[in-house]
Amino acid sequence: MKIHSPLRLLFFLVLAQQLAAQTPMVEVPLDKEFDNATVLLFKPPYQTMTVYIESDLDLRYSTISINKNSLFLKKSLGNRKMEKLKPDDQLIPEAIKSGMKVNLRIDHYQRSLKNTAKEVVLADDYYGNTGLKGLYEFLEGNQASVDGQLVALNSGVTLKGQNEWRDKKFESFNELQLGCELNVHGKREIDGIIYVTRGTARPVESNSDDRLLRRGVELGMQVDKNRLNLGKGFNRTFITDNVLQDYVNSIGRKIVPEYIRTLPIDHPDHIDFKYYLVEDESLNASAFPNGAVIIHTGMLRRISNEAQLAAVISHEIAHVTQKHHSKNFRKRKNWKDASNAIIAVSTITTSSTVPALAVGMLSEMYVSEYSRTQETQADRIGLRYMYDAGYDPREAGNLWKKLALDDAESLRDVEATNMMLQMMGEKTDDIPEKPVAPEKRESIYASHPRARDRFNHVNFLLSTAYANANFSKAIVNAEQHKAMVKRLRLKPAPKPVRPKSKK
Ligand SMILES: [Zn+2]
Repeated sequence: MKIHSPLRLLFFLVLAQQLAAQTPMVEVPLDKEFDNATVLLFKPPYQTMTVYIESDLDLRYSTISINKNSLFLKKSLGNRKMEKLKPDDQLIPEAIKSGMKVNLRIDHYQRSLKNTAKEVVLADDYYGNTGLKGLYEFLEGNQASVDGQLVALNSGVTLKGQNEWRDKKFESFNELQLGCELNVHGKREIDGIIYVTRGTARPVESNSDDRLLRRGVELGMQVDKNRLNLGKGFNRTFITDNVLQDYVNSIGRKIVPEYIRTLPIDHPDHIDFKYYLVEDESLNASAFPNGAVIIHTGMLRRISNEAQLAAVISHEIAHVTQKHHSKNFRKRKNWKDASNAIIAVSTITTSSTVPALAVGMLSEMYVSEYSRTQETQADRIGLRYMYDAGYDPREAGNLWKKLALDDAESLRDVEATNMMLQMMGEKTDDIPEKPVAPEKRESIYASHPRARDRFNHVNFLLSTAYANANFSKAIVNAEQHKAMVKRLRLKPAPKPVRPKSKK
C-alpha cells in the first residue's frame, strides 16, 4: 500500500490546515485612536478608566484597562521615539481627573471586547483658552456646571442675554434658570475650571412649534374615569388608589423647578404637570409636552425607594422642561401638516375633531426616542431637580446600576459591568436575583441609551459636581416605598366562588 502518493500528501496538508484553524488563535489587537474622550471615572487603584466617547454608540470603548505599559502624557509623543520621552512629558495617574478631555490610543481586542490603554494624552486644547456651549445644569457655590464641566465667572464679567433675554445682563449664574443655554469663552486653569471672560445666555428655546405640539397633545389625550386614552385603540388604565396617586403626586410636585412652578397659569410657558401610574408591567416611564408624566407599575416595582422614583420622575420632567419633544418633532417631514391640522381645530375641543396626525404623535411619544445627547441632558438636569427637591442623587446611580446589570446580562457583557462595579468599590456578585424577562427589557430605560451609559454619567457627576455635597439629610425612604409597592398587590378581592354542593 502506497502511503506517500501526492494525493495522500495533499489530504494530510488539508487536514493539518483544518486542525490549525480549530486551535484557539491568539487574539490580535486593533490599534484604535479616539480624540476628545471625556474621563468619567478614574480612581485608585487606577486599573480601569471609564470614558465617554460621543461617537461610541454601542459603548464598546467606554471601559479602558490600564497596565504598567500604559503611558500618561501631557502631549502626544507624535513621531518621537520612546527613548526620547522625558520625565517631564509624563503625568501620574492621579493627575487625570473626571471631566478631563483626553486623546486615547488603545489596543482593542475584538473577541473579548477588551481595551488596553497604550497612551492617555491630555487633549491639546484642554487647558488654556477654550469655548463651551451647553446647558446650565446647576450651581455649586459660585461655579456652574455646563454640560458636565465646571465654569466660573471672572469678577466683573457679565453674560449677555439673547433671544427673549436680549435686554438682560447677568452678573452671576444665580440669576439664571436651570437648563438655559450658555455659550462661554475663557481659560481653563489647572484646577479644570473654565474661568469665563465673556459669554451669552438664553432661555430654553420656547417657540410656536412647542406650543402647538403641546396643544396637539392636549387635544389628543383624553382622560376618562381611570383610563388614559392616547388615540385610537391605545390606552392605559391608571391606578385610582388615592394613597398611591398622592405618593406619586407629592414627589412630582417637589421636583418641578421653581421657575416653572411660579409661572402664572396663563403664561405660554406654564406647564401643568400631572402624574399617572398606569397598569403596565414593562419597565418604563414617559412624558408628554403638556406635562403628563406616565409611570408604569413595572417600573414602580423595580424601584427600591422614593429617591429612585424621584430620579425617574426628574428625568422625565427634564425632557419636558428642555422641550425635547418639539426639538425632535419639528424636524419631521409631516410636522407642517400636523401643525396645520392642530391650528385648524385649536378652537374646538371635542375628541372627534382631533386630527389623526396629532393622535399618531401621542403613541409615538409614548415610546419616545430621544437622542443620546437629550438623554444625557435629562439625566444631568434631572439629577439636579431631585437633589434640589431634597433627594439623595446617589440613588439615581443605584437605580441605573441595577438596570445596567439587567442590561449587561442581556448583552452578555458581564465582564465589562463587573469591571465598572469594581471601580466603584462595589461587590461584583451583585447580579440580579433572577433575570428580567426579555419583554420587560423592551424599554428606553433598559436599552436606549443603555443603563450603563447613564450609570457612568450619574457617577461622573457625583464624583465631580457633587463631590462636596452633603447627603446626610437627603431623602431615600425605602420603607414607605415598600409599603406603596405592597398596595399594588391589594387588588379588589375576587368574587367568592360558591363551592358546588355535594348533595
Ligand atoms: Zn429619557
